[in-house]
Amino acid sequence: MPVVSIVSIFTRGARSSETPELRNARVQGDIQRANEVWGTGNPPGVACGITFVSHSLIYRPEVTINASTVTSSADPRIMQVIDEARAATNFATAIYVVYLSGETFNGGHVGNAGPVVDNVTNTNLYSIYGRCSLSDGAFETYLLAHEVGHILFYRILSLNPIVSTINDPSNPGDDHNNDPQNIMFPFVPAMNPYINGGQCTVARQNRIILENAQFTGVNQGTALIGTGSGFATQNQFNSMEDNESIDNFESGNQCSCNNPQHHHSNSKIVKKLNEIIDSWIEDMGPERPQIYPKPPQIYPKPPKKKKKDSK
Ligand SMILES: [Zn+2]
Repeated sequence: MPVVSIVSIFTRGARSSETPELRNARVQGDIQRANEVWGTGNPPGVACGITFVSHSLIYRPEVTINASTVTSSADPRIMQVIDEARAATNFATAIYVVYLSGETFNGGHVGNAGPVVDNVTNTNLYSIYGRCSLSDGAFETYLLAHEVGHILFYRILSLNPIVSTINDPSNPGDDHNNDPQNIMFPFVPAMNPYINGGQCTVARQNRIILENAQFTGVNQGTALIGTGSGFATQNQFNSMEDNESIDNFESGNQCSCNNPQHHHSNSKIVKKLNEIIDSWIEDMGPERPQIYPKPPQIYPKPPKKKKKDSK
């Protein structure tokens, strides 16, 4: 089964960051909508069977990143948070989703995503992870379901010369789709978005999918994760979420596996591939919800703040 892991990271002040229940509800809602689009599908599209699962949920109350100061997920503050989450998850092959405070990014969009190439052997053998950031304006929308498309469509076609793309495979030359009901329409549909067969075929070959990933052995459920007091299994790590910030277990987190494949390749080709991706995601498009009303609000809402009477 094609499975994609999601590592979710809440920064301070992000919508629903206040309690473990709210954080979990926001993550589960986003993942549920992604599974609706890429798994079961909506007419007139296909059922692609891709399943997103929550690998870990991390809270970083000591980190504040207001989306209005951010253009893309290539922002060094976001990349730092993702790098730390990667270390804490034993470099899981996953899409790392950073929830930011503030309604919109600098530019009015509410989401941004793309892949990062981790290492490359050849055009059929390379590893990537995903970076995604969402602002408060992405709350209870299909933005995550849209942003993952910008990772799932990545493919390296040639290394000499370097040819790679994140184009919508059903719309060559464009990262986005022209059908307002397609999930990859630049203004993300509010109801019943679909993917087509061409999009599904390319997405299922993507190396973010665990069964396609290069080094699956170190990334799946049996991986040990360093903690300040020894080791915890992944499940223990997951249950640790929301009671402890990443700092609580970061101190002892040396990579103890002696596996060089965990570490960033410094090859010129990897650097070049990532520079190209950075330029794409810096200029990605509107990335905001298409229309209102929003999808049905079936998830818990944050408690209403008491308004001070100003009159
Ligand atoms: Zn987009």
